[in-house]
Amino acid sequence: MTNTATFSNYVGGQWVQGEYCTENVNPSDLSDVIGCYAQAGADTAEDAIDAARQSWPGWSAAGPATRSQVLSRASAQLVSRAAELGELLARELGKPIAEAVAEVNRAAQVFDFFAGEALRNTGTVQESVRPGLIAEMHHEPVGVVGVITPWNFPMAIPAWKIAPALAFGNSVVFKPASITPGSAWELTRILAEAGAPDGVMNLVMGSGTVVGNALTGSANTDAISFTGSRPVGSKLAATCVAQGIKVQCEMGGKNPLVVLGDADLEHAVDCAVNGAFYSNGQRCTASSRLIVTADVHDEFVGRVLARVRAMVVGDARDPKSTIGPISSGEQLESNLSYVRTASEEGGETYGGTQLQLEAQGYYMSPALVTATSNDMRINRDEVFGPVASVIKVADYDEALATANDTEFGLSSGICTGSLSRASDFKRRSHAGMVMVNAPTAGVDPHVSFGGRKGSSYGAREQGSAAREFYTQHKTTYTDPR
Ligand code: NAP
Repeated sequence: MTNTATFSNYVGGQWVQGEYCTENVNPSDLSDVIGCYAQAGADTAEDAIDAARQSWPGWSAAGPATRSQVLSRASAQLVSRAAELGELLARELGKPIAEAVAEVNRAAQVFDFFAGEALRNTGTVQESVRPGLIAEMHHEPVGVVGVITPWNFPMAIPAWKIAPALAFGNSVVFKPASITPGSAWELTRILAEAGAPDGVMNLVMGSGTVVGNALTGSANTDAISFTGSRPVGSKLAATCVAQGIKVQCEMGGKNPLVVLGDADLEHAVDCAVNGAFYSNGQRCTASSRLIVTADVHDEFVGRVLARVRAMVVGDARDPKSTIGPISSGEQLESNLSYVRTASEEGGETYGGTQLQLEAQGYYMSPALVTATSNDMRINRDEVFGPVASVIKVADYDEALATANDTEFGLSSGICTGSLSRASDFKRRSHAGMVMVNAPTAGVDPHVSFGGRKGSSYGAREQGSAAREFYTQHKTTYTDPR
């Protein structure tokens, strides 16, 4: 169904039109237009930053109970509308419907958690070394926070940035990914209806270079929380540091899943298939490198291949589809090109070809590339699609060295029946998140999230760790005479 409705930006409590609007097209069916979404110029971004600045003193003084209530109401709305919003998410992104609905519920859990965190913003009181003085440490809001998000989790990632920003008394300017504005627009409306005062929550849709540059270039931006690719994140971080803007970046991954001969093999196959192919493989924590010891390699590959062959590629809103379309034509072409390069470099490829279904969309078959080595392009770059490669290794030591041989360090996993191997891997893996007998993807909303090396920069996200980024410390000394 084509919808020609236009959707505006939200600035200072007003819905404002953009310079023009762009069509949000369903990647499962390119004839289906979800709506036309406003594209802001730099002036609208600046208006939003100004509105956030003006609203901030009132919001930061509103107190934790008020802020907590807004977040709780938003959470309840997300839960009650999960089916409808999940459908929108599946339609604009191509994420299989069950996972899309789960993402909306996940966003609700995040708002719920931070509704509680608003009330748990404790400080500390210490006796000073100078007799009679009392030293106190408080966490105060940072101010105006720019939130820049990618397309692969268009509801959950904004939630895990916006919820703590608001909980701790900051005002927000939200710039979502250009190809998934629909989820962002609905989330903004939910927060406005939940009682976020005018100017506290602003939505500015538009290109990364225009709106992103306005955010990083403004003297009124205090902090930027970014999730996206490494090239964009590294440049953005450098700009923010030069401007004195507090910044955190969550970026790409090339996550290894090690499978040892002593693993429960069927469970290891489950972990690999989930980690590599759920959400169309479009997860920063996807298990894109399957590192398997020689003793179980052939059996493991055979079982994974059987599962990949059984996957159903189709419209993301059809519950029978296990793989939806790729999010955009550009991403599809990039995925196919990585598979072609892997074959040229000597990999043996199953799948990884473009598919023509009844409706015209960005479809490809899931790909498994075997006989690869860790220096091949497919094992160095983040592909970000339903594509996994297998690297055969002799033993655990080679598996560990191969797992760590990457510029990224987001997530890693090991499947083994050995407690000592698992403990060693947890200690020596160079990733920010390490999973034992579990997929490399899939994390809890109340637990800290983040990587190392080229995957992350700055404070961790989510859980109680989120406060570090969205607050600033203040130390006071009082002589109570
Ligand atoms: P991207 O191209 O880096 O874009 C991310 C966001 O940055 C988008 O909103 C984009 O806007 C914006 N942007 C682009 N250029 C900018 C600039 N010069 N200044 C400021 N903002 C700019 O990433 P993506 O393709 O949307 O997402 C996929 C990437 O995200 C993958 O690398 C994936 O690993 C990563 N990711 C990481 C995590 C994590 O937590 N580590 C989680 C999810 C995804 P436009 O859309 O308008 O270009």
